Amino acid sequence: MNGSVVWFRRDLRVTDNPALLAAAARGGPVVGLFVWAPEEEGDWPPGSASRWWLHHSLQRLDASLRERGSRLILRRGPTLDAIPNVLRSCHCDAVFWNRLYDPDIVQRDIGIKQRLRECEVRAESFNGSLLLEPWELRSVSVAPYQIFTPFWKACLARLAPDRPRPAPERLPGMSRWPDSLAVSDLKLEPEIDWAAGLRAAWTPGEEGGAFALRRFLEEGLAHYADERNRPDKPSTSRLSPHLHFGEISTRQVWHAVHHQGHSNCDEKIDDNVRVFLSELGWREFAHHLLYHFPHSSHAPLREEFRRFPWQTNVAHLKAWQRGRTGYPIVDAGMRELWQTGWMHNRVRMIVASFLVKHLLIPWTEGAKWFWDTLVDADLANNTLGWQWTAGCAADAAPYFRVFNPILQGQNFDPDGHYVRRWVPELRAVPTQCIHCPWKMPNDVESKARLSFGKDYPPPIVEHDQSRIRALEAWNTIKK
Ligand SMILES: Cc1cc2nc3c(=O)[nH]c(=O)nc-3n(C[C@H](O)[C@H](O)[C@H](O)COP(=O)(O)OP(=O)(O)OC[C@H]3O[C@@H](n4cnc5c(N)ncnc54)[C@H](O)[C@@H]3O)c2cc1C
Repeated sequence: MNGSVVWFRRDLRVTDNPALLAAAARGGPVVGLFVWAPEEEGDWPPGSASRWWLHHSLQRLDASLRERGSRLILRRGPTLDAIPNVLRSCHCDAVFWNRLYDPDIVQRDIGIKQRLRECEVRAESFNGSLLLEPWELRSVSVAPYQIFTPFWKACLARLAPDRPRPAPERLPGMSRWPDSLAVSDLKLEPEIDWAAGLRAAWTPGEEGGAFALRRFLEEGLAHYADERNRPDKPSTSRLSPHLHFGEISTRQVWHAVHHQGHSNCDEKIDDNVRVFLSELGWREFAHHLLYHFPHSSHAPLREEFRRFPWQTNVAHLKAWQRGRTGYPIVDAGMRELWQTGWMHNRVRMIVASFLVKHLLIPWTEGAKWFWDTLVDADLANNTLGWQWTAGCAADAAPYFRVFNPILQGQNFDPDGHYVRRWVPELRAVPTQCIHCPWKMPNDVESKARLSFGKDYPPPIVEHDQSRIRALEAWNTIKK
């Protein structure tokens, strides 16, 4: 009986994996394959933090395949050479994979499927990562949706995600396995080890994803609606890197949360569940937008923003990247990102708004920095997050609504716990000054053991003036 290759990409799990299940269902040997071909991902090859994650996730996937009798073969690209080569060496006649939706990857995969079929290889792809695929939903006007609320309403009306399917218990193996690189040969881990903070914060892999989901169901979900905007509280799921790498499927998360939300007998879904599921909805919406507007990862969705008078200021960009802007909530977020590869959603909005409005630096610069440093860097979600904050997506926060970083800090980190954790030099600053330390009277400053301007910088721009400057810039492009 002929065997099947499962081409793993960002579906690094054995549970509820449609491509793996299709291969297992054929009954012949099952060979896992991962091809490292970053140059095939256009302008967005995986960034440094993503590479670190991938290294560990591939190791874990190989271990779980081996436990079941199969294994993961690693090759370098071009993918169009690697797949036929592995097919030949293990006498397999079918390849299965789960679809991705990033524009360059879609184009590549269409070409690969066509070539394989020309060679009479059975090549089939599946939906392994979304609740609904981008082409399944169109608005009444048949145009793709650009506004979240009608999009999500339409999704909810159609959604009946299949129940997640368990991992195959056994996978038939080969008597002779094809050659494989070791994960370390891919050199995904940094040469100079800066990843200690990432190691301390995360467990990449399917088990890590399952653990994060369990912890969220036990501790986070019950407070999600009220506390999801509080970076000082552990109230969100932290599932984003696991979802990005497909270590857990959206269906698994959807069903687990839905199940938890049904109260004993009245089948009413409580607010926490509704709000959380709508965040999964934003993920779906982001994929829908990127698929239908493939230029949006580098160009604004609102045409007028092409004329926006962005500025270049290397010193300001560096201060933002290093968490040295003088605004504690911004600096805390940027340092959390640098140390752990993740940042709370509210703080992502605050730091992004600060970059594009206070500093007038193009959103694409911020998107690139996030791309390199986030463990959950995801082209669809990152693009939407930046376009939304910069005001240049159709359904965006209006540009004229300029976040005040002091008020944002006071509202969402009222006791300053988040700032004190990530900006330790401000640890002894009293709460009333924690979000505006430059307002500290001299005697309080000396008690706080802080030499202001030396230990911690003064604000690189003044809030009121920057707000006015941002609105003037916006006025130049308003229709
Ligand atoms: C400027 C900016 C850049 C962003 N870049 C990314 C990115 O590269 N990768 C990424 O996964 N998310 C990104 N987000 C969205 C969001 O910040 C993260 O998904 C969220 O903080 C992840 O934490 P969590 O898993 O605890 O989220 P939870 O609140 O527990 O939400 C559950 C899941 O829903 C999805 N989700 C939640 N919020 C959003 C959202 N606003 N847009 C799309 N999906 C969402 C994520 O998959 C998340 O894991 C960005 C947001 C902004 C404002």
